[in-house]
Amino acid sequence: MKVIHSIIELKETLCTCRSKGQTVGLVPTMGALHDGHASLVKRSVAENDVTVVSIFLNPTQFNDPKDLERYPRTLEADCDLLAACGAQIAFAPSVKEVYPEPDTRVFSYPPTDTVMEGAFRPGHFNGVCQIVSKLFSYVEPDKAYFGEKDYQQICVIRRMVEDLGLQLEIVPCPVVREESGLARSSRNTLLSEQERTIAANIHRVLNESRHLVASVQAVHDFVVTKINAIPGLEVQYFNIVDGITLADINDWKEASSVVGCITVFCGNVPIRLIDHIRYK
Ligand code: AMP
Repeated sequence: MKVIHSIIELKETLCTCRSKGQTVGLVPTMGALHDGHASLVKRSVAENDVTVVSIFLNPTQFNDPKDLERYPRTLEADCDLLAACGAQIAFAPSVKEVYPEPDTRVFSYPPTDTVMEGAFRPGHFNGVCQIVSKLFSYVEPDKAYFGEKDYQQICVIRRMVEDLGLQLEIVPCPVVREESGLARSSRNTLLSEQERTIAANIHRVLNESRHLVASVQAVHDFVVTKINAIPGLEVQYFNIVDGITLADINDWKEASSVVGCITVFCGNVPIRLIDHIRYK
């Protein structure tokens, strides 16, 4: 596997691949890779001749400097994992390489980027669109792989792809979970053993809520009350939304795809954990 740090070298390498008629898959990541990322990489390796995995801790999508500061950085182990998954290229540029000048572009795709994470992390999705649009322009992938773990992110990126008229396929990949049900996340390493056990309740309660025969409001209240009753967990928001536009729904019949998106604070630091459940 080639580890590339410069945009020019990346473009030249991909130009050679394309001249041989090879297809290219892109998996954008922020590093601290785990089985969740590996599932995206393996899927791309299976579906494309060349897989590029970007490892870039993108500062413009962090609204909280402390979150960026404590984010785990494990480049060497990341490259070992990517090589084992069969990726051909790890692209790990510096911040200066990606942002030689501050990025002043503004992306706006309401309501996908204004609700939930968009509301609680102002500027987050603008930063995501800035980096993902840059990566798309460096790599020009045939397919790009994103985890449903970040459900809202996929909805925003789909809107951006449509808006910019890009010719690529966005491939959503299912959430990979720990045995306990906790969604795998780079931030899980910041949890103590006991906090991890507590955090597993998030998925358990969401799953339980799928089996209720009740109004949208009643299901909402069930999830929030149950999770808040667990010491060490505090719900920041739980929205039951149209699975495409992310607009709130009040009745199950309002949309053909319905998803519940949640963010929960866990532990003393506390660590923000996100998850979601599909109702239909
Ligand atoms: P990140 O490094 O957190 O930006 O994640 C890079 C990509 O991996 C994103 O598309 C995430 O949605 C995806 N990802 C992260 N964790 C998981 C997981 N547990 N299951 C599936 N995909 C994931």
